[in-house]
Amino acid sequence: MPTDPYAWLEHSLATIHRADWYRSVQTIHGRPGATVVLAGQEVINFASNDYLGLAGDQRLMAAATAAIAEFGTGSTGSRLLSGHRELHRDLEEAIAFTKQTEDALVFSSGYLANLGTITALVGKRDLILSDQYNHSSLKNGAILSGAVVLEYPHCDIAVLKTQLSQQRQNYRRCLILTDTVFSMDGDLCPLPALLDLADEFSCMLLVDEAHATGVLGKTGAGCVEHFGCTGKQLIQVGTLSKALGSLGGYVAGSSALIDFLQNRAPTWIYTTGLSPADTAAALAAIKIVQQEPQRRAQLWQNVHYLKNLLQQLPNLKLLPSESPILCFQLPSATDALKAGKQLRDAGIFAPAIRPPTVPTSRIRISLMATHEAAHIDKLVAVLKDISSLVRF
Ligand SMILES: *Cc1c(COP(=O)(O)O)cnc(C)c1O
Repeated sequence: MPTDPYAWLEHSLATIHRADWYRSVQTIHGRPGATVVLAGQEVINFASNDYLGLAGDQRLMAAATAAIAEFGTGSTGSRLLSGHRELHRDLEEAIAFTKQTEDALVFSSGYLANLGTITALVGKRDLILSDQYNHSSLKNGAILSGAVVLEYPHCDIAVLKTQLSQQRQNYRRCLILTDTVFSMDGDLCPLPALLDLADEFSCMLLVDEAHATGVLGKTGAGCVEHFGCTGKQLIQVGTLSKALGSLGGYVAGSSALIDFLQNRAPTWIYTTGLSPADTAAALAAIKIVQQEPQRRAQLWQNVHYLKNLLQQLPNLKLLPSESPILCFQLPSATDALKAGKQLRDAGIFAPAIRPPTVPTSRIRISLMATHEAAHIDKLVAVLKDISSLVRF
């Protein structure tokens, strides 16, 4: 009697439920913003990556609709065949200008940018060193590349140096991978030390600026600018879908790098070019980032305002953060879900992040430039109640 080859799905789901790891979608109605309607209830939104509040901005929407009117909805093919438009080039030039790199290349998502770039740069004879807390797209890009992958403990430069001195000489090329702002923690990578090590051991360094672009640095260019490392040789990947309020990803770096990726990155060559609407919205967003530093200033003012208020809640275990992402650790997935629900009942949308996404359960808050003081005050009031109940 043959067994049902799909029966394991139900068993697996039951295990996921038992561990309180089960996840499902939640419907947001209307436009994104500092407040949103979530399943019929208006909530203050601390769950979005729309740091500058641009995803619902009239200028991005106007740019997207104008692009649809002129170019239609689909780009109809891969960039190397029928999918390339002047808009793509305009966006790539704007990204390269912001990043102060020779060139840039736009992908259909940040995830694809990481997969394609890593697989193009290294293979079986090569070594990847990767921060333990890196984003899934870096981790899966590393696996897909076929290179030998070693993880180093989160931001641990000493261990990374030991791994390099023991292993570097056994491989052809070496690539170090790191988020710049760690997406589920909010802390920053030690970029200057990583650049020094890359230099010393002749390694390429790829940094993922997904949560830093538009947020960090004097002109919003990202963590590289924040650390004064603009102009150094390195590979910068990022997304158009967070502070830039659109969809898509990019790589910025030398002309040779971009030229090579156009010939060797499978997730760029064999996928459809970014849609005209997404491309035009991202281009409008880059211009706003360049022309309206006050948005970024307001975002950071909100970060400082919240951090100040949190000092009154010493019970809360706030993870180290130097970004608009602030996380409160909780003893278990069940506690995190309970806290998430309590926030939600009080009209605050802040998700519980649980294993396997992160090693320890937490509530993750992300701030926006468009949050008002009253929004943050309300958040702190509810966190106060939660912190008096949690037992570690
Ligand atoms: C969101 C994110 C990505 C993926 O970007 P998408 O454009 O959403 O595919 C990659 N890396 C990091 C660190 C991210 O946070």
